[in-house]
Amino acid sequence: MIEDFYEGFSNDTIWPIFHYFLQYANFDHNLYQAYVEANKLFCDAIVEVAEDGDTIWIHDYQLLLLPRMVRKLLPNAGIGFFQHIPFPSYEVFRMMPWRKRILRGMLGADLIGFHTYDDMRHFLSSVSRLVGIPNSSGRIETGNRIIEVDSFPMGIDYHKYAVAAASPKTIDQEIKFRSSLGNQKLIVSIDRLDYSKGLPRRLRAFEMFLKKYPEFEQKVSIIMIVVPSRDNVGKYKALKEEVDLLVGRINGNFGMLNWTPIHYFYRSFDLESLSAFYRMAHVALVTPMRDGMNLVCKEYIASKLDKTGVLILSEMAGASKELSDAILINPNNTEQVVEAIYKALTMPEEEQIMHISIMQDTLKRYNIHHWVKMFMDRLHFVLELQQSMATKKLDEQTGKGIKEQYDLAHTRMLFLDYDGTLTGFQPEPQMAKPDKTLIQMLLNLTSDDKNRVVIISGRDKETLDSWLGHLPLDIIAEHGVWLKERGTRWQTIAKLKSSWKSEFRPVLDAYVNRTPGSFIEEKDHSLVWHFRKVETGLGELRSRELTSHLKYLSTGKNLQVLEGDMVVEVKNADVNKGSAAQKWLDTFDHEFTLALGDDWTDEDTFKAMPSDAVTIKVGNSSSVAKFNVPSFKEARAFLKTLSDT
Ligand code: UDP
Repeated sequence: MIEDFYEGFSNDTIWPIFHYFLQYANFDHNLYQAYVEANKLFCDAIVEVAEDGDTIWIHDYQLLLLPRMVRKLLPNAGIGFFQHIPFPSYEVFRMMPWRKRILRGMLGADLIGFHTYDDMRHFLSSVSRLVGIPNSSGRIETGNRIIEVDSFPMGIDYHKYAVAAASPKTIDQEIKFRSSLGNQKLIVSIDRLDYSKGLPRRLRAFEMFLKKYPEFEQKVSIIMIVVPSRDNVGKYKALKEEVDLLVGRINGNFGMLNWTPIHYFYRSFDLESLSAFYRMAHVALVTPMRDGMNLVCKEYIASKLDKTGVLILSEMAGASKELSDAILINPNNTEQVVEAIYKALTMPEEEQIMHISIMQDTLKRYNIHHWVKMFMDRLHFVLELQQSMATKKLDEQTGKGIKEQYDLAHTRMLFLDYDGTLTGFQPEPQMAKPDKTLIQMLLNLTSDDKNRVVIISGRDKETLDSWLGHLPLDIIAEHGVWLKERGTRWQTIAKLKSSWKSEFRPVLDAYVNRTPGSFIEEKDHSLVWHFRKVETGLGELRSRELTSHLKYLSTGKNLQVLEGDMVVEVKNADVNKGSAAQKWLDTFDHEFTLALGDDWTDEDTFKAMPSDAVTIKVGNSSSVAKFNVPSFKEARAFLKTLSDT
């Protein structure tokens, strides 16, 4: 099982895919089965010692299914997950046959961490496109839980490397190494044997450097340490042979009796020896094709007690996001790597000291202890957030209490939003027509003389009239532009100008042309751009662009730009649901007041309510409402209990 789980699915399927080496990926269902089995064994071992409510931190790509497995058995555990390798772009990730199961596995955690913002972005995009769960600012809201996704660049134990670099044992080692090497400048290169590390390209770049700059003959050598890893796997064996051949060729072509261009070691070293190599090296050459973080480059910086030295770092390593004072290179651009080596070997000492100092400051601060603290603090923050949402959940007990208040009141006012609150979202706005059950429920509520039921919606008055006009309801349409008390005609709150529309309409048209599936709805006092039928991701992207464009255009025009559920709306700023609701509160008696709504335009309604009102948000996102229910179904069920006798 270990072979199929570890060498197999982990290192022969996930590793290549997540490092963008698609051609190496092995898609074999038997390997996946072993991966599932091994994750289960980890789960059993956890459950044996953990109690529900404990905090559990799961690490890395070998255990992607484990968070969900543990969640099932310990529903109240606080589960953190951190992935130490990259998360690939959606286009690559979706090639995996088990992609959804893997994502769902990870989503069992409460906090999911990656090294970089890009990894996090790629993960969120896969979750939204493959599992269909959207996110906002790194927060995923599943039906019953909030999950946070964030980047936590991992640091090193800075102190450990700084202390090791000053230890007598390290200094002895350095003296020993120096006496065998002479006075050449040294470049250090330390990696595990892995195709993601870009070893052959690095060697070719060094070969090209020796050809291009013969003045460095006998003056510079590479200490190349390759730590044996997975070399019983075919691809790794082939890589080892390629590296052996290249080293042999370069040393054969360029070497002299008193000079070896590449000192090659295929083994690992203890901390003091590594530390001595870091201390001695004028340059660290870290050029992976892809690396989640890369710690060697950080250890090199921490070991530079006199602050001289130069780091050449691949922009494909997660560490490059923090270490912008390194010479950053694209490992595929061999000419660039050659020039970087030249620049590093000829860099004036003051410049070296300046760059190393800046990088040391960063690494000292964002060390491993800081990383652990940041992750754990964030995990506890998420757990608290979940709890605060949970206490707001409208449970049976609270529902009963509300019903008692309702029964006791002589006058009641109920403000009900329509879309998303009384009905679910539909691909076409006109498809959200009320069904029989809804009509019956509204009839039951309005047939009670004590009730005044106000539908408070962003929709146009014609639609609301045709769907609900025959019922004894009060209706507020277009967020408050149009008002209708039961049994009377429509009125508008004020004479509002709509001349701005001719300026804004062409802008919205341009966005419709650029975004297949989007369309414009024109209301009396607003223009709405809908993107519910647009490809996921593209719609959100354009909506952000359009919102900022409209906000810019509307400056000083008494207009308001709203981002609703799958819509961007520009409307007259004097109009909002809160001021419309206020009119009702001022006019009619209300011993009991209730407001239900699902999007942020309903927040204005909630805010306008008296302090003893019952306010209920439909959906799990944050709100000023006192309670929340997961979806329109529970909202309907709750309303039904009110009219039940
Ligand atoms: N390392 C080691 N002995 C050696 C060479 C390297 O312990 O002989 C350590 C090195 O100090 C570093 C780690 O191996 O902490 C390599 O981590 P990195 O993130 O650079 O690469 P990974 O192997 O995780 O892909």
